[in-house]
Amino acid sequence: MSGEQILGVVVEHDLEGIKPVSFEVINAARKLADQVSGKVIVFCLGFNEEGAADLFIRSGADEVRFLNHPDLKTYIHENYAFALTKEFEKIPVDYLFLPATILGKELSAVLSAQLGVGVATDCIGVSFLRGDEVEAVRPVSSGKALATIRFKGKKPFILTLRPNIFRDSEPSLSRVGEIFKEDIQLPDFSIQAQKLVKRVGTHLDIAEARIVVSGGLGMQGPENFKLLEELAEVLGGAVGASRPVVDNGWREYSNQVGQTGRTVSPDLYFACGISGSVQHLAGMSSSRCIVAINTDSNAPIFSVADYGIVGDALKVIPVLTREFRKTLSS
Ligand SMILES: Cc1cc2nc3c(=O)[nH]c(=O)nc-3n(C[C@H](O)[C@H](O)[C@H](O)COP(=O)(O)OP(=O)(O)OC[C@H]3O[C@@H](n4cnc5c(N)ncnc54)[C@H](O)[C@@H]3O)c2cc1C
Repeated sequence: MSGEQILGVVVEHDLEGIKPVSFEVINAARKLADQVSGKVIVFCLGFNEEGAADLFIRSGADEVRFLNHPDLKTYIHENYAFALTKEFEKIPVDYLFLPATILGKELSAVLSAQLGVGVATDCIGVSFLRGDEVEAVRPVSSGKALATIRFKGKKPFILTLRPNIFRDSEPSLSRVGEIFKEDIQLPDFSIQAQKLVKRVGTHLDIAEARIVVSGGLGMQGPENFKLLEELAEVLGGAVGASRPVVDNGWREYSNQVGQTGRTVSPDLYFACGISGSVQHLAGMSSSRCIVAINTDSNAPIFSVADYGIVGDALKVIPVLTREFRKTLSS
């Protein structure tokens, strides 16, 4: 083994604070670090709240580094990559972990290109092999196969972790760690975000949501997605869609689940009026529990569903929404 392994984590925040997926990534890094008595360093850019540091430490950080600059408050990949690259000149990070969110995937790609280091995206498993070598597992070929990845060459090696996979650890209230705050310089070309606009109805990203309520062509028209939004709201979930729904302009592309859309792994996935094509399954078959609602009892979606309801989604969904609302409010 070649000295203490340093595992870095880049956390993510938005207008509502630190994104929950960040704690999953810290948990995963902690578990790995414990295998080799390594150190977990959290990098938090443009967000400087004492309370956040405590949460990072309880989740497994040994050290929290707040990097402060007004232009880091809102994520811009040029500024984030510059700030992190400067940090890596001081701190010899061996492995860098980010969530496999839109931000994490973009930033990991930019860092990998700028630093000339390897990146494994959307990992669903990570472990140390002999001593200090990490092995990562990631789905390939639309989830039909799993690739095992090992890294070679220059460090830090970068991994993005799929949301909702690494979250079985409880925070430890007794953990202690160090906190550093640093006002950093950005270059003259530093880019500023003038305004961050929160888009109504899209606050919860489908890839991070623990419950996804998806609709397909069987929803008959865009107006009926209101039913899915109501169910998602009652359950605290997000609304997804099949590709033809997006192609028809009923929902935005960011809602699309499947081979050419997003990959989701929620606790609960509702497939409403979705036939269950292989391309759709590629994006949601790793969900922990799948509920399918379809008028056709032979629809392929039922072969992957844990619970199947043969019926008209337009009639079944309002009943489900009403019953969930009643149960959850009591
Ligand atoms: C290269 C490639 C990439 C693709 N990528 C994706 C992708 O990323 N994501 C994706 O989803 N697709 C993708 N597709 C398309 C995919 O092949 C299917 O065409 C698509 O998933 C079907 O969408 P759907 O289930 O909404 O529609 P359909 O297949 O038309 O199914 C509609 C279903 O609704 C049911 N239904 C009808 N009325 C009702 C009702 N009132 N209540 C309940 N059920 C009802 C029907 O029985 C049917 O099963 C891709 C295709 C290709 C070739």
